[in-house]
Amino acid sequence: MEGGNAVCFQPPRKVERTWRLILLGPPGVGKGTQADLLGNALGACPLSTGDVFRAARSHPAPAGSAMARAQAAMERGALVSDDTVIALVRERSRCLHCSGGFMLDGFPRTTRQARAIDDLLAAEGLRLDAVISYELPTEEIIGRISGRRVCPQCKSTFHVASRPPKTEGVCDKCGGRLEQRADDRPEAVRVRLEAYNADTIPLIEHYRALKLLVPIQAVGRPEDIFARTLDALAALVLPS
Ligand code: AMP
Repeated sequence: MEGGNAVCFQPPRKVERTWRLILLGPPGVGKGTQADLLGNALGACPLSTGDVFRAARSHPAPAGSAMARAQAAMERGALVSDDTVIALVRERSRCLHCSGGFMLDGFPRTTRQARAIDDLLAAEGLRLDAVISYELPTEEIIGRISGRRVCPQCKSTFHVASRPPKTEGVCDKCGGRLEQRADDRPEAVRVRLEAYNADTIPLIEHYRALKLLVPIQAVGRPEDIFARTLDALAALVLPS
């Protein structure tokens, strides 16, 4: 497996408690934004499989390699093969031992991946605290994704209607030229939503049965969704 760096980038720090979390939710629901906010607040190390594949795109993958196939699947909006994604997460198993815990964003996405992470955590002697499932109506998802623009340089995210940059097409932070992600194009979004409905929705029941599921309404501003998430996590640690 090529691309990405198999090290945890979160420096060790003193944290109140360790959170080991999975973030579930349809594409465009804002998991990445919540992962950043939660990472700062909780000290947990975010690991986004989508970010690893996007980062690897700047290094041309050898034709026929697992990474080349992964990148082609990603461009279409299709899921990367379970074997490839599971190998990628196993390579980063050090992140699972980060002192503040971890947040898996975009993994698992299939029943096989869920079994793989269950096995990996058991082998590492770790237990999940919660699976946060962000929920949003489909029309709102499509609106969010189709207007999303990202800065390829500093990774800042904007939205043409709800969070426009000061100058159209230009990143407020670094002046980079904003782009639409290839997999945010309408035809790829359709494929991503189909994959979510077919492969990822069953995981909601899997984690509900394990009493780990924490559903969060993802409507409103990122800071409101973040506040709802923190309240839900706080409720988990209150003595009952
Ligand atoms: P994301 O940013 O999480 O929406 O991921 C972007 C793309 O990366 C997805 O549409 C897939 O092509 C690929 N990808 C990321 N994570 C996974 C995963 N766990 N399983 C399969 N494909 C994935």
